[in-house]
Amino acid sequence: MPKYSRQREAIREFLAARYDHPTAETVYRNLREEFPNISLGTVYRNLTLLTELGEIRKLSTGAGPDRFDGNTSPHYHFICNGCGCVLDLGVGGLDHINILAGQNFEGVVEGHLTYFYGKCPSCTKNKKPIDKPFSVV
Ligand code: ZN
Ligand code: MN
Repeated sequence: MPKYSRQREAIREFLAARYDHPTAETVYRNLREEFPNISLGTVYRNLTLLTELGEIRKLSTGAGPDRFDGNTSPHYHFICNGCGCVLDLGVGGLDHINILAGQNFEGVVEGHLTYFYGKCPSCTKNKKPIDKPFSVV
């Protein structure tokens, strides 16, 4: 296999094994362990190509750099306003949003691109008042 397709395959496999939607920078740092001479530009080009081929998904969340997802099945994402993590949501299809958006609209709504924002489970826990460190004797 030529080097460029080995690198692309390694990027695809790396993303397939991750559930945290890494940035290009994170992909680059990890790929460098196997390909010490790989450049960030090469990683970007491969991520763009894999996205165009439909083998990965690019998430432009509007908060921080683009993230990448090896899971191309339809699912929604949650972005934490506290720590910036991107999590998968278990909610099913929300196609009725298209009908809502199409009300009082002359055209035809065919789809939507939706991200959900808030506090992730770990940031929610950290906001709770700290338990008393000492037990009352
Ligand atoms: Zn968080
Ligand atoms: Mn995902």
